[in-house]
Amino acid sequence: PMPSTDSADDVAVDVDRISKIFQGEDEVRALDDVSVAIRRNEFFTLLGPSGCGKTTLLRVIAGFEPPTMGALRLGGRDISRLPPNKRPINTVFQNYALFPHMSVANNIAFGLEMLGKPKGEIQTIVYDMLKLVQMEHLKARRTSEISGGQQQRVALARALAPKPEVLLLDEPLSALDLKLRKEMQIELKRLQHETGITFIFVTHDQEEALTMSDRIAVMNAGKILQVGSPRDIYERPAERFVANFIGESNFLDATLNGHTVTLKAGGRFQASPPAGVADGAVSVLVRPEHGQVRMGEAAEGELAATIDTVVYSGEATTVHLRLTTGELFKAKMPNTPSEDGRSIEQGAAAALSIAPGAVTVLKD
Ligand code: ATP
Repeated sequence: PMPSTDSADDVAVDVDRISKIFQGEDEVRALDDVSVAIRRNEFFTLLGPSGCGKTTLLRVIAGFEPPTMGALRLGGRDISRLPPNKRPINTVFQNYALFPHMSVANNIAFGLEMLGKPKGEIQTIVYDMLKLVQMEHLKARRTSEISGGQQQRVALARALAPKPEVLLLDEPLSALDLKLRKEMQIELKRLQHETGITFIFVTHDQEEALTMSDRIAVMNAGKILQVGSPRDIYERPAERFVANFIGESNFLDATLNGHTVTLKAGGRFQASPPAGVADGAVSVLVRPEHGQVRMGEAAEGELAATIDTVVYSGEATTVHLRLTTGELFKAKMPNTPSEDGRSIEQGAAAALSIAPGAVTVLKD
């Protein structure tokens, strides 16, 4: 892992070696020595499978759950012992938790009234928030009488109204249908950008994480495995779990010698192995879109293969190849109008070329 270059000024939320153990019939280590520095003004996503500890980490940051060990700092100040309502942090919950009998405007005003803000100021903020989430026209409507997507906007407006330093979002889009979900992804990104508030977003949807985030932390079994930009995580996953969880993957057997990777199935590539990987037998990743298939016998620099199956999916065709080692390789190629996909026949000889730089060495 890269050494952290963040100065305290850049860091909004500093999670410092936090563990959370739930004592029950059997002990659950929901967070296992987790450290991460979330920067000011970034859209940061916690991504991982169900039960990996995402929600627990969010609840620790919010203050709903005391950590068993470790410290939590906000802008350099230790807030581990502050109750949730004393933290400059707000949460948007999955089910929105709106007051159904109250109007849109009153829902947004509610938290500000609790804070004892003057009436005039509340009116101004509510107006600004209605504009921010494009809900002015529905301000008098009860929240029980608006759509799911509109409720989502109101929940966001309500959470942003007190101008928190950090907004926590726990799978806020999961109740929406796919089309609305895509719209709200862009909308959330716009809101984060316009408000400059640090967003910490939880999802188990890798595509959502890639689309929305400045940086992503991939979690599994109570640990953060890797933190990086979407591009880092997708193109240079450090280990097999991360590669497998994000996008589609081909894993191939290979031998590493310095920066040279020799695939068992043939072909030699340059790569930068992650720290801690020794020379010798390794497993490498090649993304399907980095493989190109040509019918016929393999020439110099190509891998010999036979066609196993061909899957057409509209914008692309995925060709499953059997390599000489018996390994399967998925190559995903964009469809073009001129192409004649019918020339790819099951069992036929094919040649696979892998793009330079597309071979990633994994530690596992
Ligand atoms: P999901 O995507 O399903 O919400 P998650 O990644 O958010 O999952 P957590 O809810 O943080 O996962 O749970 C992490 C682990 O801690 C799980 O094994 C869960 O069963 C356990 N856990 C969470 N809350 C409690 C609790 N209050 N008591 C006991 N165990 C808990």
